Amino acid sequence: MRRPLVMGNWKLHGTKASVEKLLVDLMASTSELKDVDIAVCPPVIFINQAEQLLHDAAIEIGAQNIDVNRQGAFTGEIAADMLGEFGVKYVLVGHSERRAMHHENDDLVARKFEAVKEAGLIPVLCVGETQTERHNGETKDVIGHQIQAVIKRCGRKSFENAVVAYEPVWAIGSGQAASPVDAQKVHQFIRELVAAQDKDSSEALRILYGGSVKASNAQALFSMDDVDGALVGGASLDAGEFASIIKAAK
Ligand code: 13P
Repeated sequence: MRRPLVMGNWKLHGTKASVEKLLVDLMASTSELKDVDIAVCPPVIFINQAEQLLHDAAIEIGAQNIDVNRQGAFTGEIAADMLGEFGVKYVLVGHSERRAMHHENDDLVARKFEAVKEAGLIPVLCVGETQTERHNGETKDVIGHQIQAVIKRCGRKSFENAVVAYEPVWAIGSGQAASPVDAQKVHQFIRELVAAQDKDSSEALRILYGGSVKASNAQALFSMDDVDGALVGGASLDAGEFASIIKAAK
């Protein structure tokens, strides 16, 4: 059995005061939970604060992005090794907002995935189709390319010690999550793609669903065989709502 994982992606939200309140409240409401992994991905400037606050808690820390380079003349960038020094365990790569707004293509995303692994951290590869692609019946094509780009770069065992998040772009922030059955179809497809390379890593691979996950739809999504948790945006900024989602996963 795969252990569920629920991650909160805070995106560009937070103040020192709100980070403290959110994490203190979240620790209080999840401290008894033993059968689920929990992580939060704050904006990078708050990671140090999160590490201090969470030092005794089971809540882990993720980052939302990294640079492909480990060091050098890359003004404004942050390397995976640096994040590792601040207690970061997971790094999101290929979030659709970065693909769309920061021109990250499959090749760059694969290089970031590799950089995260080289630093000994766990990449969370985000994949998903746009509304138009869905409409045109291209969902499997798009996701196939996104997955294969990583396999091409990192080899058949790419997804050992990695996580995949299926986040249909049309579901992100729209209030309209994929139906559990539709999510399951894509998750199963992703697992089959990975299994074609390496059966063991496909069976251990946690595939999260993301896109308008709320307390009210989490349980139905988590009841699907290949949905191993969630990557939660907006609802992860509310400790009570996020804790309810986490509880639905255990
Ligand atoms: P929402 O949960 O706000 O739809 O965002 C999902 C997401 O993009 C998580 O990475």
